[in-house]
Amino acid sequence: MTWLSFPFENAQQALLIYILITWLLWSIVMLPPKIVRVSSLYMGARGLALPGFLFILHEEPESTVHHELTHVLQMRRYSPLGVGLYLGWHYGKGFVQQKLAGQPLDFWALWRKNPLEIEACEKMQAGVSPLHYPWSSIVGLLCHSLLLALCVFYMYG
Ligand SMILES: [Zn+2]
Repeated sequence: MTWLSFPFENAQQALLIYILITWLLWSIVMLPPKIVRVSSLYMGARGLALPGFLFILHEEPESTVHHELTHVLQMRRYSPLGVGLYLGWHYGKGFVQQKLAGQPLDFWALWRKNPLEIEACEKMQAGVSPLHYPWSSIVGLLCHSLLLALCVFYMYG
């Protein structure tokens, strides 16, 4: 058995691990993120939001922090997995459409059309922290916690 065949040979355990990781990431996103100032980021980005951390370039103003805090809010609202799936769909579909149209692949054109980025750019201009706890995030995380508890009970209870 290899790590690649594990999910296929142990579907129940793999599903439980998947639900547990999703629950952990969503729980981490509910905590205030640690802001880390860095000297460079990939692809010329000025900030990056990951569960638990915001990476911001040294010289960036507070508005960039608000942009990235909006992404944390989106991860709270839709879960980190939901945001990841949406980004995969948005950029995956966009790259296929660019390829089929014979255009050069243009990440930044897709970035400008991304509704999550449009919301973050709007909040960036507001000058106040967009971070809060939407009701949907609390209900979603509670439901996910219940799902995790039911899976553990079903498998080991
Ligand atoms: Zn962004």
